Amino acid sequence: MTTARIQTPTRISRLDRTLITAVVLLSSVFPVELFPNTLPASKGHDGQYSGKQGQVLVVKVQGEDQAAEVKGTFLKRVIPFFREFRPGEPDGHIGLLGIDMQDEPGTYELAVEVKQGEQAKQLSFHVLVAKEKFVVEHLKLPREMVDLNEKAVTRWNAEQAQVKQALAENSRLKLWHSNFVEPVNGKRTGIFGSVRVMNGQPRNPHNGEDIGAPMGTDVASTNDGIVRITVDHIFSGKGVFVDHGLGFYSMYFHLSEILVKDGDLVTAGQIIGKVGATGRATGPHLHWGVKLNGARVNPYALLDLPFRKDPNPAATVATPTSESMPNPQAVPVKE
Ligand SMILES: [Zn+2]
Repeated sequence: MTTARIQTPTRISRLDRTLITAVVLLSSVFPVELFPNTLPASKGHDGQYSGKQGQVLVVKVQGEDQAAEVKGTFLKRVIPFFREFRPGEPDGHIGLLGIDMQDEPGTYELAVEVKQGEQAKQLSFHVLVAKEKFVVEHLKLPREMVDLNEKAVTRWNAEQAQVKQALAENSRLKLWHSNFVEPVNGKRTGIFGSVRVMNGQPRNPHNGEDIGAPMGTDVASTNDGIVRITVDHIFSGKGVFVDHGLGFYSMYFHLSEILVKDGDLVTAGQIIGKVGATGRATGPHLHWGVKLNGARVNPYALLDLPFRKDPNPAATVATPTSESMPNPQAVPVKE
């Protein structure tokens, strides 16, 4: 340090030096980092961190041994951590903490357990969940799409159970890498989390983002993963659920065509279907949803991930599985 200062050809003012030191110290003391687009961070105040409903926080635990097993619990949801290697940054374990769009505002504990062999230790962080201002949407739909008859209710219940079962397990392998893809380049409607009033009746909030695009537009998988299920459901229409590992799922609804099948391996950007208006839809668009360890988060939070700009995704991959994923050229394409 001292040597570097003496040799620095351009003079750094004392204030600058103090600031640089402060930043270095802060970043080593406070291991939890927020996404750039989250709330004005209350970073550094009593170890308390904050995010809005539907956002994603990056939690980094530094200084633990490579072999350590790190696992967090937040509002009864399990947050698996993974190793992250990045040039120029201290090694650490990273966890993605999703704040569900309906988590009650308040302060909650993120309990992190670090296990190494026989030894285990606990870390504790406070996370402040702030309210997001979601829009209110008034929708007019055909009556039978809103007032379900008994048969439709039975079908809907069975479909819900099918999805719940398919997504129950957190795959232990991390398949996704740092470069996320927007599934459709279309018009973002910004209605994630919107409070929905259908034909005058309040309904469940909108759990994804809608992207308007012409019928038949290609829909790409946002990242590498395994197709967990493909469905044709009463509300979501033709849909694809992709499991990216460690409790991260993405879903694509109202498709006119599905181009993959259950169990297929897909890569980021691979076309998995076509934009449509199947299910309960007022016109062609893609409904893009993301679940992170059970939390329904804004899918666009993924595109804001700080890992995204990494020029070489393979370099940050934490498990060998993603690198050794077979190229799914065998994916059948329906015509
Ligand atoms: Zn939607």
